Amino acid sequence: MSIISDSLKRIKPSPTIAVTQKARELRAAGKDVIGLGAGEPDFDTPENIKNAAIKAIKRGDTKYTAVDGTPELKKAIIKKFKRENKLNYSLDQITVGTGGKQVLYNAFMATLNKGDEVIIPAPFWVSYPDMVLLAGGKPKIVKCTEKEGFKLTPKKLKKAISKKTKWIILNSPSNPTGAGYSKKEVNDLAKILIENKKIFILSDDIYEHVRYDNFNFFTAAQISKLKDRTLTMNGVSKSYAMTGWRIGYAAGPKEIIKAIRKIQSQSTSNPSSISQAAAVEALNGKQGFIKTRAKAFKDRRNFVVKSLNSIKGISCLTPNGAFYVFPSCKGLLNKKTKIKTDTEFVQTLLERANVAVVQGSAFGLNGYFRISYATSMKNLKKAMDRIKSFCENLNI
Ligand code: PLP
Repeated sequence: MSIISDSLKRIKPSPTIAVTQKARELRAAGKDVIGLGAGEPDFDTPENIKNAAIKAIKRGDTKYTAVDGTPELKKAIIKKFKRENKLNYSLDQITVGTGGKQVLYNAFMATLNKGDEVIIPAPFWVSYPDMVLLAGGKPKIVKCTEKEGFKLTPKKLKKAISKKTKWIILNSPSNPTGAGYSKKEVNDLAKILIENKKIFILSDDIYEHVRYDNFNFFTAAQISKLKDRTLTMNGVSKSYAMTGWRIGYAAGPKEIIKAIRKIQSQSTSNPSSISQAAAVEALNGKQGFIKTRAKAFKDRRNFVVKSLNSIKGISCLTPNGAFYVFPSCKGLLNKKTKIKTDTEFVQTLLERANVAVVQGSAFGLNGYFRISYATSMKNLKKAMDRIKSFCENLNI
């Protein structure tokens, strides 16, 4: 009999973390590897946020807090939703966790029974299906093609719904594609969800503040007929370059929020008191950082998209947000290149060109790969040169 539980056997380690780890190991072994696998901003946390944390330590904010977040942070989150999304919530509709990841995990643990289905549009963030499996649910993967802009269509949504559907996950702008759903697109999906009154909507808005070209952010809870069934998850990791601080939050139905708190009270308790104080400053303090940073990301996005599209065999859509592109490598998977799959493509790229990216199949769509451009322009230039000469050599 194995010491490891059956539920753990259902899942696999995060492939994006595995790629980052592999790149780290190769670098430690003396190889000049450029890592384009990690999903975190390379910018430092703004000074005012760091100072708020230092002040919190000096003030003695070093004890347990309420399990689901301090009243100060919850109030800052309520203000954020009002200011940025025109959404009103009360304190008992907000929960704070150790990163958005914990909030999502707790939400599934709190709500899924064996066999409950969760509709997950692919390409998806790697953790969704495994979290659902761990909680005993069943991921219902719906593939969204490049032609569809990697976005779920009302037709496909309708087809995916069954009596067992409990949740649908919407993530805009998306990891791994950067695709964002317009107000019209969210409304079109909402028409179907309004008819299906038992389905809950999990809106992962973590990339809300990383968007370009005046893309208008719109979230499911803004549709009044869906608000009571929507759990909106967000956090400070990507918006304020605070990945290591581990603060994420959600707003939604009181019953779910209370259930999440119950799980948290028996697992991790409150997120770090210092990080919570820092998050209060992030949400209430000056917001200029968001714009400056988005401009830098936009320059990088433009450069990366243009470079990739100049390579024979590679094609790449221009995303609305996040810091990822999801190019196709299908043009290079053939007998001539002797590369059959996207996984082989990224492995060969790492071995021969020392560039680490993640295969599309890890995100539920074969024939693609994900590049994170949350790294310096210098690194990106070097990486694009290497990818180009690698691909050109394959074509010979
Ligand atoms: N959702 C998506 C789509 C993400 O890409 C990530 C992080 O990579 C998260 C949620 C979780 O972020 P965090 O736990 O840092 O708040």
